[in-house]
Amino acid sequence: MDDVETVCPVCHDPIYIPVEEYAELLEGDVLECENCGAYLEILSLDPIELVAVEGGEDGFYVLCPRCEHEIAVEAEGESVTCDNCGYTFTPDWSEVEADEDDERDYRN
Ligand SMILES: [Zn+2]
Ligand SMILES: [Zn+2]
Repeated sequence: MDDVETVCPVCHDPIYIPVEEYAELLEGDVLECENCGAYLEILSLDPIELVAVEGGEDGFYVLCPRCEHEIAVEAEGESVTCDNCGYTFTPDWSEVEADEDDERDYRN
C-alpha cells in the first residue's frame, strides 16, 4: 500500500503519511511538517486537507496598516485585530498567499 501524500500548506513540500498512521488520524489532529516544523491541523481526511496552526516557521503574518505591527493570523479569510493598537481590518489575502514562496524580507 502506498503512503498518503499531501502538501504542507506552509512550505509546500510533500508530506507522506504511512497508511497505518493515516487510518488512526482524526479530524482536528495536529501533524508536524518535517521540513519546516509547522503544525498542521487536519481539516478533513478524505481527501486530506491541512491548515497551518501556530508554531510554523513562517505561518501567516500581516502588517497592521495603522501602526505596522506584525500580527500572526490564524484563519485565512477573516478580519484581524491588531494587538498593538486595536485596529481591526481585513488583510489582502491574495497578497499573503503570493508572498509565501518569495523572499520574505519585508521587515528590512
Ligand atoms: Zn512545511
Ligand atoms: Zn496596529
